[in-house]
Amino acid sequence: MATQLFSLDFSLIKKETNTSEPTLLVIGGIQGDEPGGFNASTILATHYIITKGNVWVVPNLNFYSIVKRSRGPYGDMNRKFASLKKSDPEYEIVQKIKAIITDKQVDLVLNMHDGSGFYREKYVDNLHNQHRWGQSSIIDQKTLDFDTPYSDLKAISTFVVNRVNEKLLDEEHRYHTHNTKTREGDEEMAKALTYFAISNSKPALGNEASKEFSTPHRVYYHLLALEAYMDYMGIEFKRNFELNPQSIASVINEDYEVTLFEKITLPTKGIRNKLRYIPIDKDKIIYSSQNPLICAIKEGNNYKIHYGNHKIASLSPQFFLYDDSLEKLEVLVDSVVKKVLPGSTIYVDKYFQISSQKGYRVNIIGYSNAKKIETDVKVYHNDIPKRFSIDKDGKIFRVEVYKGKKFSGMFLVKFQ
Ligand SMILES: [Zn+2]
Repeated sequence: MATQLFSLDFSLIKKETNTSEPTLLVIGGIQGDEPGGFNASTILATHYIITKGNVWVVPNLNFYSIVKRSRGPYGDMNRKFASLKKSDPEYEIVQKIKAIITDKQVDLVLNMHDGSGFYREKYVDNLHNQHRWGQSSIIDQKTLDFDTPYSDLKAISTFVVNRVNEKLLDEEHRYHTHNTKTREGDEEMAKALTYFAISNSKPALGNEASKEFSTPHRVYYHLLALEAYMDYMGIEFKRNFELNPQSIASVINEDYEVTLFEKITLPTKGIRNKLRYIPIDKDKIIYSSQNPLICAIKEGNNYKIHYGNHKIASLSPQFFLYDDSLEKLEVLVDSVVKKVLPGSTIYVDKYFQISSQKGYRVNIIGYSNAKKIETDVKVYHNDIPKRFSIDKDGKIFRVEVYKGKKFSGMFLVKFQ
């Protein structure tokens, strides 16, 4: 089971305008219990448009640990960058990210973390002191001794810290630069990603938001810092939401989708915790989503949809061979004829009516009538008992299409 889960690959999302201009590499999710960092990186990937310069985002580096909501099911990945045995289960992932970090296009690397408490240079109290990591900008040393426009780490960090501190929600949240002085003997930090980067001639910094906050508040500070880094590098961007914790919460809670085998698309918002008899044809699940924190994995006999640290739904499968011949189905939706693709959703005011198509059988899950026909008949919301909906509100229903004994695809009907 563990090996099955472990095949979760991280995503690399390249947002490029002109590769001769600066490129920022942002890494989130090296430790799966730090949702501020991996949600901020994900929002950068999904909700920002880069208009000048380039941004590469790896929002889910240790995706398995994110699914497990664990710092590191195979140990702390951020201690595996100095040396690592080939037998380590994370060896391949670490090699892959090292290659991305050292790619010649990358100019600056930023590793996104959530840390406990509030970093302060001197001891204030148990939550605010030099051993805490929250609300800090991390550098391994003041300057780098190789030639790069970004060799003055202290200056970059100071610029970012000042910019974040202009938008504090509370004085307690004030950012500080934390120089770990790794080269002077910090054996733990010498095994970390940023020290690997600077040892390979790549400027790198860490950014920490406090674990004392809710995820949207952590993301708020990460995005403030990210925007400061982009400004520093001359990278220009647009975003389509206001930068405040409320808007960030809305972005995180948007209705994302996951598509299985290109035939079944499910929403992530409001979906029931358990869905039964989902037609599945293979052991190794193939999925896609516009959100890199969403995945579908096999766990035991069931399939689970995860979004970041949260399990969204458990699907119990019914095994079918798949048929790839169905291109679209004709459906009358409130008196308008529509061509519907497998894996899509149709939005209905009053009724829908599926045209029969030779060779295919249609099953509207939960629907039945006296004539036992499901095509060429108007179906209203009240005709399907709510308990068959895939959502908790009782508005979204499954229509499955079969050819002989094979499954050809599912589409969803959502009553407004
Ligand atoms: Zn961390």
